[in-house]
Amino acid sequence: MISVEEALSRLLSLAAPMESENIPLRGSSERVLAKDIIATTDQPPFATSAMDGYAVAISKVVPGNRFTVIGEAAAGHVFTGELGDNNAVRIFTGAPVPDGTKRIIIQEDVDRSDNEIILRNKLDKSNYVRPAGGDFQAGHKVYSGKKLKPADIALLASMNNAYVEVSKRPIIALISTGDELVSPGEPLGEGQIVASNAYGLTALFENNGAIVRLLPITQDNITSLKAAFELCKGANLIVTIGGASVGEHDLVYEAAIDKGLKQSFYKVSMRPGKPLMAGRLGNIPVVGLPGNPVSAIVCGHLFIVPMIKSMLGLSSVLPKTFETVLLNDLAENGKRKHYCRATLSAEGLYVAERQDSSLLTILSAANALAIREPNAPPARKGDKIMYIPI
Ligand code: AMP
Ligand code: MG
Repeated sequence: MISVEEALSRLLSLAAPMESENIPLRGSSERVLAKDIIATTDQPPFATSAMDGYAVAISKVVPGNRFTVIGEAAAGHVFTGELGDNNAVRIFTGAPVPDGTKRIIIQEDVDRSDNEIILRNKLDKSNYVRPAGGDFQAGHKVYSGKKLKPADIALLASMNNAYVEVSKRPIIALISTGDELVSPGEPLGEGQIVASNAYGLTALFENNGAIVRLLPITQDNITSLKAAFELCKGANLIVTIGGASVGEHDLVYEAAIDKGLKQSFYKVSMRPGKPLMAGRLGNIPVVGLPGNPVSAIVCGHLFIVPMIKSMLGLSSVLPKTFETVLLNDLAENGKRKHYCRATLSAEGLYVAERQDSSLLTILSAANALAIREPNAPPARKGDKIMYIPI
């Protein structure tokens, strides 16, 4: 049995980076930038006014100064005349400032009559000129490995990019295994349950940038399992659910070996999720998740999401851990690392009493996994505890 850290490192080495594709910026939200983008111009391209007011050519102004208004500059409309020391140009936010402008007198600081302005008694100190290149200059880089959020997309647009190079989304073939399983919405026969895991995992994987190919439920026999593996052609990752333990009906491993699986590891020293299996079928990585719903989803968070992130080329792929205050006492931990379902609030972390790996209600109510190291001593309310938000 290997440690969680070792399992993660082996899984990441199985996950090859995706190729990139050029897509319209319009559809690039949440996609991962695959190439650095370098600005070719300054932003703003010219000095602009930050306020509505009057552009003047002297920086030291005092109350009572008078200027003759000789023209106007608005956003998209350039004033091309000459700005003398006694002149002012009526100007609006976003307008290019006339050559020689030293400051903008805001309109609130001015009395105007016809073509003359007189400065009032209290003058704002700022000059309200936004310099050319004040946001970014030609050569500014947006680095690859970034998941594009709305502000990034605005930034790339302001650099005048209509298309961006992003990583292709990995296709994950997802196989639920079990004679007892039926799809949600179907009538339940005797001894049957609904196959819930694949739906939660599909959401998890797709929220993290993958495309899931949800394959039909597979029966617990070698023929059916091998047929399911046949349907995985063209996928970038195969994930199976269930059938990975050591029982007579747990045949995923055997079927995968029959199909030519090169095993990387089997079993991880953790709770929930010990019977995790990984390897490679041809050049497609395969991960066998345990069937218990909580185990499957927790392993999805801990292992498959980092694999997806790594395939996408994200710069940070490992689950982020944080420290907070424990709100209830915990018994000592056993030999395996334990990821306990827990609820994080402003006060700290409350670890659920019931940790059975079949309890989806508890997982659904949780927003964090408390991390208990192997053989950790009992923990007390008020102690520090590490957790992963989920
Ligand atoms: P297994 O790993 O196949 O031995 O399954 C362990 C437990 O998880 C059993 O109680 C299964 O019925 C249940 N299980 C397996 N696959 C799923 C699934 N896709 N959705 C919900 N429960 C499952
Ligand atoms: Mg099973």
